[in-house]
Amino acid sequence: MKTHLRYKKITVKVGSNVLTKSDGTLNDANISHLVDQIAFLHRKGVEVVLVSSGAVAAGRGEIGNGRKLDTVSARQLWSAVGQVKMINKWTEAFKTYEIVCAQVLTTKENFSDRLHYLNMKNCISTLIENKVIPIVNENDTISVTELMFTDNDELSGLIASMEGSEALIILSNIDGIYDGSPELPESKVIREVTSKSKPLNEAISTSKSSFGRGGMLTKYHIARKVAKGGINVHIANGMKENTLLKIMNPEEDLVHTTFLSEKKKSSNVKKWISYSESFAKGELVVNEGARTALLSDLASSLLPVGVISIEGTFEKGDLVKIKDEDGKLIGIGKAEYNSDKALKFQGNKNKKAIVHYDYLYIME
Ligand code: GLU
Repeated sequence: MKTHLRYKKITVKVGSNVLTKSDGTLNDANISHLVDQIAFLHRKGVEVVLVSSGAVAAGRGEIGNGRKLDTVSARQLWSAVGQVKMINKWTEAFKTYEIVCAQVLTTKENFSDRLHYLNMKNCISTLIENKVIPIVNENDTISVTELMFTDNDELSGLIASMEGSEALIILSNIDGIYDGSPELPESKVIREVTSKSKPLNEAISTSKSSFGRGGMLTKYHIARKVAKGGINVHIANGMKENTLLKIMNPEEDLVHTTFLSEKKKSSNVKKWISYSESFAKGELVVNEGARTALLSDLASSLLPVGVISIEGTFEKGDLVKIKDEDGKLIGIGKAEYNSDKALKFQGNKNKKAIVHYDYLYIME
């Protein structure tokens, strides 16, 4: 393979079905083939962050369904057992190339707290600077029910964005996103999705893989969001030979789905805010004038004069949702006032911004 590679910084997410077999044992052949490819890229100076699923599946393979457990306890048991198996396997496989890898476990909450977020970012950057491959997974032992990521596709999008990766590569056991059910012979892989492509929600199969939590529909939504944030997304089959290297080689034409990024670069703070909608503490409803200003290309902050109602109790620094009069979400931002002060200033002129542009993320 030629040395010209498409990207210098990538996040690679590998799904449970690529890493484990149907009986929950590890798929050694797939894992070592992925390691061959990552080791090659690593040697060429490509920065790789790996998001590895497989913990729950591997744990279930080890322990089985034996004693009756509720779903939360079962997931905790399996992930705690399986994560060790996964990391041991990765460590052993990378060792054959004298590459050191490391485990980073995280939760959704860690993305909602700016300090935790920065700590995590610093940890991953330090590992990369020291030529160690970070292997990220959700800390499934403590993140349960509403605290959970939708799936590791969501997590990988957050990691790619946090790391400023040029591309997010999602490897599962099918070739990409199809324009119909993948089982039907007439269905084809959609090769390219751009910001101008029409929404595909209905065409995408909603069936889920046997082990992972996610499905193609969540992959599609995450991919669009990540591409909007300036990162190319590739969804491809990680069971096939040299998939990763083919994606990295601009001269190869691998059948898979690429989401081309919009070239817009948003600041790190805005990226963080864009993923934090579920942590917003309050809501600001704005009038038509403020709505137009916020949606324009001008860098507008939200002033109290444009706010017509406020809901929820929040402190200065908390995230708040910004909605228009029809209840449509326009953006998310960091409140410059607490809710008491915001209520007092609402509708008033000559007051400083309630959400400053630098801490404001405007939705699609
Ligand atoms: N974190 C889960 C695991 O390691 C996978 C979640 C998903 O399927 O996306 O088993």
